[in-house]
Amino acid sequence: MTTELWTLTIHEAHALLKARTISARELLDAVETRVAAVEGEIHAYLTLCRDAARAQADAADRRLRSGKDLSPLTGIPIALKDNLCTTGVKTTCASKILEGFVPPYDATVVERLRGQGAVFVGKTNMDEFAMGSSTENSAFGGTKNPWDRARIPGGSSGGSASAVAADECTAALGSDTGGSIRQPAACCGIVGLKPTYGRVSRYGLMAFASSLDQIGPLTKDVTDCAWMLNAIAGHDSSDSTSAALPCPDFSSGLGRGVRGLRVGVPKEYFIPGMDWSVEEAVKAAIAVLEREGAVPVEVSLPHTEYAVAVYYLLATAEASSNLARYDGIRYGHRAKAPADLFDLYARSRAEGFGPEVKRRIMLGTYALSSGYYDAYYAKAQHVRTLIAQDFRRAFEQVDVIATPTAPTPAFRLGEKTQDPLQMYLSDIFTISVNLAGVPALSMPCGFSPDGLPIGLQLIGKTFDEETVLRAAFAYEQATEWKTRKPEF
Ligand code: GLN
Repeated sequence: MTTELWTLTIHEAHALLKARTISARELLDAVETRVAAVEGEIHAYLTLCRDAARAQADAADRRLRSGKDLSPLTGIPIALKDNLCTTGVKTTCASKILEGFVPPYDATVVERLRGQGAVFVGKTNMDEFAMGSSTENSAFGGTKNPWDRARIPGGSSGGSASAVAADECTAALGSDTGGSIRQPAACCGIVGLKPTYGRVSRYGLMAFASSLDQIGPLTKDVTDCAWMLNAIAGHDSSDSTSAALPCPDFSSGLGRGVRGLRVGVPKEYFIPGMDWSVEEAVKAAIAVLEREGAVPVEVSLPHTEYAVAVYYLLATAEASSNLARYDGIRYGHRAKAPADLFDLYARSRAEGFGPEVKRRIMLGTYALSSGYYDAYYAKAQHVRTLIAQDFRRAFEQVDVIATPTAPTPAFRLGEKTQDPLQMYLSDIFTISVNLAGVPALSMPCGFSPDGLPIGLQLIGKTFDEETVLRAAFAYEQATEWKTRKPEF
């Protein structure tokens, strides 16, 4: 083999595995060699599953030899964000409060990948409880951007994104509550998709904000993204918010092109203060789509300016309720020698949660407290409805919406850690999508003068991931960004 196997996409590896040109074990060994070479510089993983992965690869090889029951993911090395429950493998949410926690069950997405013969390389680093945009809020140390090790990989799925970008896995899963798949995908120069709320089961995803959370793929290209979505999407009786809708084959329509496709360009997403290189790259990407036959249409999403405030009220309110379960009793960290039950709760939580999680619990508890509920939580719910309505109206005129994923390329490590508001503002272009529940993808559309990747965000109608993927594929075919790789 001339190509290094760790660089392969899922579809390239699948062709070689199926033809028996390579074995699943060889592919895993190559990926592990790559991990050994670069992980010291990146810290994408919290846990590596070497022995279990080898057993899974050998089982995949038996399946490949038999030729029976093959799936596109059989033998493919995948990384999982550490908020997805995995039977017998530590799942910590990058929090001290869950240090050493080993779930007795698989998240539905994990069970589905396992059933298809995927190989789990390990569990990836993240902001504690998925709260953050830089992976610096991990209790176990941050992750570095493969393109520039002095910069953040984005967050909260920064471990998954950097593992894909640095070829430390073939593809990964992350979760996205306010941008946590798309923004790290943009920072690391890869493809990331947040599916429609309800498209993918959340069972076994440790909850942050249940009305916003959604699991999705981080991949090396658009085809892989469609393949991963095929593998994880669909109704699950264990998650009552998962939609009982049939799933199309998300890969079959990729090549249909964008002739006549109406691409909305919201004026509220090109704002003073954003990086000029981002604005230029995204406008050039829209021009590429136009050359391919798409029709750009200016649209307005007038309530965009309220999105950050609404999100940080609702997400923190839901988090304060979801995180009440970490009481030091059933699992995770327990304070030593408590004086009484209250002392046990108070000290276990004080010792177990990091500063950002505590800040969110306090904000959320305040927003929900009697006397303030109507002024904050209820008001935010009303504005959430207006934001969703903005998207419904815009989608009466267009088929897909194109925007930047983030206002700047990856910022420097430590640059925003002392200023939570600045950190929250980096989510300005991603959070409305979660509030509205619609699907959105980020993909590379250029590089800053410093050589940092820039993300193009494509937003779709509810349950119309197909059009998003089709537009993304057309853009990918017309450009060469995916051939660039970070240097080590
Ligand atoms: N950065 C956002 C936050 O800190 C989004 C996180 C996420 O999507 N999980 O809440």
